[in-house]
Amino acid sequence: MIYRAPDQFYRSTLLDPLRWLDHGFGTRIHNDWIANQPTAKLKQIHSTVVKRVEAETGFLGEGDALYTAHPDTWIGIRTADCVPLILADPDHHAVAVIHAGWRGAVDGILSATLNKMRADFATNPTSAILAIGPAIAYCCFEVGPEVAARFQPWFPERTDLHQKTAVDLHETLTRQAHHLGIPAHQISKSPDCTRCSDPATFHSYRRDRDQSGRMVTAARIKRSDVAGRS
Ligand SMILES: [Zn+2]
Repeated sequence: MIYRAPDQFYRSTLLDPLRWLDHGFGTRIHNDWIANQPTAKLKQIHSTVVKRVEAETGFLGEGDALYTAHPDTWIGIRTADCVPLILADPDHHAVAVIHAGWRGAVDGILSATLNKMRADFATNPTSAILAIGPAIAYCCFEVGPEVAARFQPWFPERTDLHQKTAVDLHETLTRQAHHLGIPAHQISKSPDCTRCSDPATFHSYRRDRDQSGRMVTAARIKRSDVAGRS
C-alpha cells in the first residue's frame, strides 16, 4: 500500500520496514526539497539511460533512473504525471529511483534499471521490492493510435490499441515487474491519479501544462547502516 505520511510524503508499507532505507514520493509542498537537499539527479529525457551513483550530488547528466548502494547519498527524480518508481534490493541494501513516462515504460526503463542492479550488486528480482508512486492513471491518460500501439505487447488482450484510447502506465509497469520476476506481493501501487485525484496535492502536466511544477521522488541508504554492518 502507498499511504500519505504526516510530512505529506507518500510512502510504501513494503519499503517502511527496511530500516536501512529512507524513501518518499513528494507532493506539491515538497517543490523545493530537491533544490535544498544535496541530491543526485538527472536531466530527464524519457530514455532508458540508467546511472549509478556513489557519493556525488547535483546533476549527473542525462538519463531517467539512478541507483546506488552508497550510504547517505540522496538520489531523486522528478515527475508530473509520469510514473515515479522506487526499486529496493533488501539483500544487498541497494536502491533505485526511476522516471517512467510512456516512452520509458514501453522502452523498458524498469528492466534496464534492474539489469544494472543485477550486474553490479547481484540483485535478485524475487526478493526486490517495487513501489509505484502517484502518476496519471487510466482515467486520464488518453493517447493517440501510434502511442497506444506501443502498449500492445503488454496488453495482448486489448483490441482497441490501434486507435485513440486510454492506457494504464501503472498496469504496464506492474506486468513488466511480474515478467522480470518480482512477485506481486512485493509490488505496491498508488491508487491516486495526479491529474484528477487531488489538484491541491499533485502537479499534473496534462492538467496544468506549462504552469505545472514537478514532484520529487527520493531515496537514500541510511548512514547508520554502515555502522550496523561493520
Ligand atoms: Zn484521472
